Amino acid sequence: MSFFAHESAYIDDGATIGDSTKIWHFCHVMSGAEIGEHCSLGQNVFVANRVIIGNHVKIQNNVSVYEGVILEDYVFCGPSMVFTNVKTPRSAYPRNTSDNYLTTRVKYGASIGANATVICGVTIGEWAFVAAGAVITKDVPPYSLMAGVPARHIGWVCECGVTLAFAREETTCDNCGKQYRQVSVDRIERTA
Ligand SMILES: [Zn+2]
Repeated sequence: MSFFAHESAYIDDGATIGDSTKIWHFCHVMSGAEIGEHCSLGQNVFVANRVIIGNHVKIQNNVSVYEGVILEDYVFCGPSMVFTNVKTPRSAYPRNTSDNYLTTRVKYGASIGANATVICGVTIGEWAFVAAGAVITKDVPPYSLMAGVPARHIGWVCECGVTLAFAREETTCDNCGKQYRQVSVDRIERTA
């Protein structure tokens, strides 16, 4: 295996970590975790059992990826953003087994801003963009820009990360030239 882990990181026996992945100071990766190739885990990142992380995923400092979370390829997790895996936690009524954990899926290319919170059980669509500090409480369509508490859809973003303006049904990214079409009020697709 040719990944890098800083000497201060704990990689439990049995964890699967792909080539060229870098795991920085004070991280903890549990035994059942699967992490792909060319990923970066910043300082103080926790990856639980049964978590699946794809390739080219970047996780900034102070993120805990709890059991039930799936991160597809090229997902970006901003610093100190928060995942959860139990919807109604109670210390007096423990819900802390795998059966209690809801699945949260972050799809290909999506970005989650600093300090955002993702309530468990949702799917964040491909290339979606969650603004810093937003609280995601429901599914997010692909390419959707979400902001606020609770997060609302406030626009669309290109795969390159720049906001898209739709004057009509079709638009071209000012930054990279990719083209998109609005399919419905809550759905766009890339056409070129
Ligand atoms: Zn673009």
